Amino acid sequence: MADLPDYRPETLAVRAGQERSQFNEHSEALYLTSSFVFDNAAQAARRFSGEEEGNVYSRFSNPTVTMFEERLAALEGAEDCVAFASGMAAIMATVMAHLKAGDHIVASSGLFGATVQLCNNILSRTGITTTFVSQTDPAAWEAAIRPETRLFFLETPSNPLTEIADIGLLAQIAHRRDILVAVDNCFCTPILQRPLELGADLVVHSATKYLDGQGRVLGGAVCGPRKLTEEVFKFLRTAGPTLSAFNAWVLVKGLETLRIRIEAQSANAARLAAWLEAHPKVARVFYPGLPSHPQYELARRQQKSGGGIVSFEVKGSRDQAWQVVDSCRLLSITANLGDVKTTITHPASTTHGRISPEARAAAGIGDGLLRIAVGLEAVEDLSADLERGLSLI
Ligand SMILES: *Cc1c(COP(=O)(O)O)cnc(C)c1O
Repeated sequence: MADLPDYRPETLAVRAGQERSQFNEHSEALYLTSSFVFDNAAQAARRFSGEEEGNVYSRFSNPTVTMFEERLAALEGAEDCVAFASGMAAIMATVMAHLKAGDHIVASSGLFGATVQLCNNILSRTGITTTFVSQTDPAAWEAAIRPETRLFFLETPSNPLTEIADIGLLAQIAHRRDILVAVDNCFCTPILQRPLELGADLVVHSATKYLDGQGRVLGGAVCGPRKLTEEVFKFLRTAGPTLSAFNAWVLVKGLETLRIRIEAQSANAARLAAWLEAHPKVARVFYPGLPSHPQYELARRQQKSGGGIVSFEVKGSRDQAWQVVDSCRLLSITANLGDVKTTITHPASTTHGRISPEARAAAGIGDGLLRIAVGLEAVEDLSADLERGLSLI
């Protein structure tokens, strides 16, 4: 990225990272090839040793994947980015690159479900342990630190209750003890929040969500300074959870519309949240862009806007919540998020269904809670779709 002047994010989103071939194509090319040819034996040796830059084998180097990595790095304000086959692969690689048996993680209790499972069921088998603490209680993070703590892992806003972690404050606490801070920036994307500027060391992404934005492919990424991504890259090169060139090509084009999608989806979400908050059948709305959000001021400092995810509690329990879901004709009933098509899900029986009822209650995920990932449809059409079910309560 050294040759890019100080372009603004809008410009970087459509221009950064593009590498043209000898055909001088205007749009980014898709390089479907597993390996690359060398001019001679000496060049092959130089490429393999890393003495000469250039592509070798698509497990760890492919020009289309590189274009995606450079574009996302530019948007996050990162020196480097390493792409992965999925968000979970990116999270796994972050941990495997920087932690070893005996090390300890402090993580927010509201992490994405598969990340919690990764910590509890897989990393635990390698001798890496995790303590989960409240996202909103910095003192709890400090108190959870042990001599062997190596990583703070957070995700803000959280899913589905949109709790905000204070990235800058947690980074200060971590850095006093040489602990790394990784932020899952999936919900905000670099358009709304740039964790590295706030003090985080690494940013991880599920590119499957807003970066693609149209529900087509899986992908993931880790962004940060090269001294930290180098180890992440070595894990990718050896273990091979590689982003396919095709998916990278879809994601490169997805990044071009990221800003206008996120801004429009966030504006839609703000309007829908306000409508829900005024609705007589709605008990409570969770949205960082609403002044009623307990961390509204922090959210305003840390994020450009409230984002596209709105959760709310209906007046009632599971039956009433399911009634709202089942009355939807427009909203898609699916747990996916980040799509231009609005989705609705009942967390207690889907994404958080494997957690015990007691743990769910402790986490504040009630049976009447619904989560909406707002897309690009007209807000009036979305609210009319929800009204059908809400009016039955
Ligand atoms: C979906 C998601 C992930 C996992 O990403 P995949 O691409 O599905 O592997 C991680 N973190 C968050 C916040 C997510 O929403």
